[in-house]
Amino acid sequence: MDQLQLDEELGKGNYGTVKKVLHKPTNVAMAMKEIRLELEDAKLNAIIMELDVLHRAVAPEIVEFYGAFFIESCVYYCMEYMDAGSLDKLQAAGVPEDVLARIAASMVRGLKFLKDDLSIIHRDVKPTNVLVNKKGQVKLCDFGISGELDKSLAKTNIGCQSYMAPERIKGESQNNLGTYTVSSDVWSLGLSMIEMALGKYPYPPETYSNVFAQLTAIVHGDPPDLPEDKYSDTARDFVASCLRKDPDQRATYRELLAHPFLAHEADSGVDMVAWVQGALDFRAEAAASAACAPQPPLSV
Ligand code: ADP
Repeated sequence: MDQLQLDEELGKGNYGTVKKVLHKPTNVAMAMKEIRLELEDAKLNAIIMELDVLHRAVAPEIVEFYGAFFIESCVYYCMEYMDAGSLDKLQAAGVPEDVLARIAASMVRGLKFLKDDLSIIHRDVKPTNVLVNKKGQVKLCDFGISGELDKSLAKTNIGCQSYMAPERIKGESQNNLGTYTVSSDVWSLGLSMIEMALGKYPYPPETYSNVFAQLTAIVHGDPPDLPEDKYSDTARDFVASCLRKDPDQRATYRELLAHPFLAHEADSGVDMVAWVQGALDFRAEAAASAACAPQPPLSV
């Protein structure tokens, strides 16, 4: 901690705060996540040791891990600083099909790398866990690496929008945690893509505050799809192949990379740098006009 200069807060998640920091000895800007865990030192040590695997998670589609440590009951986790933030905050401007394809390609390659090279299933694929930088790179973070950490966080999971696949919801309700397979991440990928396309969580708003209604809609309702008027049949087919309710019928990463939506994506010439800048400008303008909007009179 002595080596770090603390800068502004980048965001708050379910489990803690993320701050921008400067690593003074190397002059590298990093993002540091603070997770408060009321655990004894032996458990905190076990978490730090498990996180060490992340040093091997080096790929263009994965946010780089710099190291972790704990002080008192907080775990601090330092990673690559992504200067355009997470996709949930960029999607409001709209994500056109060629950009969506580039994002999907990065996500699939990242997930496939984790699975093939490190035998890691992400377990928490959602737009807040997809980070972007001004160079137009798209990278995954926050994957389930540490059993100890997952166990401690599960108790405090208060997320109100579920990206969980139907089989996971059913499995967990039977207290059977063994049902998580790689295809559950494929479902979450499909759902995240629809969220980016719509600029909002795909299940109806009335389910946001009613967890039971939301989980029922995921398990018993039809899967959502991409809007017909804005996306091609190819894009819609890609997403539909992720959102098959039977996990055995869902596409594999290999199939997704060979799908016509992604197969020629690298040649699309999409200008990601321009899209990221446009999305950041859109967000800044929206924030400025919200700040200028007339405020209702204060009631005394
Ligand atoms: P969640 O629990 O919702 O996934 P996190 O605690 O991981 O959220 O992160 C909170 C917010 O901090 C994110 O939504 C993102 O905007 C920002 N953030 C997280 N990691 C980074 C990073 N490496 N670089 C820049 N911003 C980040």
